[in-house]
Amino acid sequence: MKRHHQVLVIGGGPAGSAAAHTLARHGVDVGLIDKAVFPRDKLCGGLLTLRSKKVYQRIFEQPWDTIINHVSHGVKFLHQGRLLNEVVDFSELFFTRRLDFDHFLLDQAIGRGAAVYLGDAVVSLDIREKTCHLCSGEALTFDTLIGADGVNSLVAKTLFGQFFDSSRVAFALEMEVDRARHPDRVDDPEIHFGLAHWGYGWVFPKKDSLTVGIGGLHAKNPELKKGFHGFLAARFGSVPEGRIKGHYLPFGDYRKVPGRRNVLLCGDAAGLVDPITGEGIAFAMLSGLYAAEAIIEASARGGADVLPLYQTRYREISRAFDHANRLRTLLFPSASQRLFLQVLPKSRTLPRKHLELMADKLQYGDYSRYLMIQALKAMAKRLVHPLNRHHQRSDSHEP
Ligand SMILES: Cc1cc2nc3c(=O)[nH]c(=O)nc-3n(C[C@H](O)[C@H](O)[C@H](O)COP(=O)(O)OP(=O)(O)OC[C@H]3O[C@@H](n4cnc5c(N)ncnc54)[C@H](O)[C@@H]3O)c2cc1C
Repeated sequence: MKRHHQVLVIGGGPAGSAAAHTLARHGVDVGLIDKAVFPRDKLCGGLLTLRSKKVYQRIFEQPWDTIINHVSHGVKFLHQGRLLNEVVDFSELFFTRRLDFDHFLLDQAIGRGAAVYLGDAVVSLDIREKTCHLCSGEALTFDTLIGADGVNSLVAKTLFGQFFDSSRVAFALEMEVDRARHPDRVDDPEIHFGLAHWGYGWVFPKKDSLTVGIGGLHAKNPELKKGFHGFLAARFGSVPEGRIKGHYLPFGDYRKVPGRRNVLLCGDAAGLVDPITGEGIAFAMLSGLYAAEAIIEASARGGADVLPLYQTRYREISRAFDHANRLRTLLFPSASQRLFLQVLPKSRTLPRKHLELMADKLQYGDYSRYLMIQALKAMAKRLVHPLNRHHQRSDSHEP
């Protein structure tokens, strides 16, 4: 006999666990399937912003301290190895290992009563028959399905014919660099500009390692691996030992309609990675929460359509992404990058604004207005003082 769950979640990452935890907490019969056995790793920088912390605390009950591996209070911005600017006294940036973080979240969902099926991949879906077929031959049926199965989402492919749009997706490469072999002190994360088109490089501190990566729009970076080798060699003296791994990330190309009828998409499966910062964990958890809340509300209303209820909540995320996507078309082209790299070293507020954005203390609308003012000031200065522009400090006139 096929097993049945009121809600079936595919994927036990932050999106799936957030959804399963919320549903189970409200007494909904929920099953979660993941092809991996946990703890399992996921290629990721593991940066958790204050936004992530806020979202986490809305959903999960346990304090997350045990899975926080490193805490920073600042960030360094660099271009071709040269420090452009830094913040040293910001509130908090947290770093985790996804191996620990995702396991911790899934355990909390299980603790709340979610049934889990691990180590068994969903190989096909029959949306009409409301049935998931697993690699083991088992089949599970559902009333509502949540696709939280990451960027290569089988659920998204089943609904829309493709995982993602390959002309708009990003690709990233990462490796763990052993701190014992490279003992230079790194307390704060580094963001490296000029390494990838429509993207950047990063060095994120963990307790025993540095997570080093590079990412950008796939279509604009055909030589990303070569660029990564160059970056590693410049940053560490030679390419460190270790495995370089690659992974797609949606980077702003989100689903305008995140599902169909009784099937909802969350997290990377819905394309919810910030188009400028590359942050995805917070939006994965938030969309998982919203999908679960929509299902709970639909049930309370005697079986109302679930997708419109999800879309109402989802709009909060998609509006911010629309703003960010518009801003990105102004920020990422080469001419604006040059202007940005001129303004950044001279500005006290610009790096801080970027951190405030990631901490959810500043919204994209206000950030865009701030950047416009800075850009106009920089251009005006070049027009008014063409000869002595190198000696000007744009800070002195900042609001
Ligand atoms: C290199 C890189 C660095 C990043 N760094 C950061 C960062 O520092 N901070 C940040 O906030 N975001 C970062 N991101 C983005 C972040 O990793 C994702 O947005 C986040 O993992 C999305 O969570 P999710 O739950 O939607 O999907 P995932 O975490 O990908 O989880 C999907 C789950 O579905 C399972 N699954 C997939 N297919 C099937 C199937 N057919 N059957 C059963 N199970 C299935 C998988 O095993 C997996 O466990 C980074 C991404 C990349 C690629």
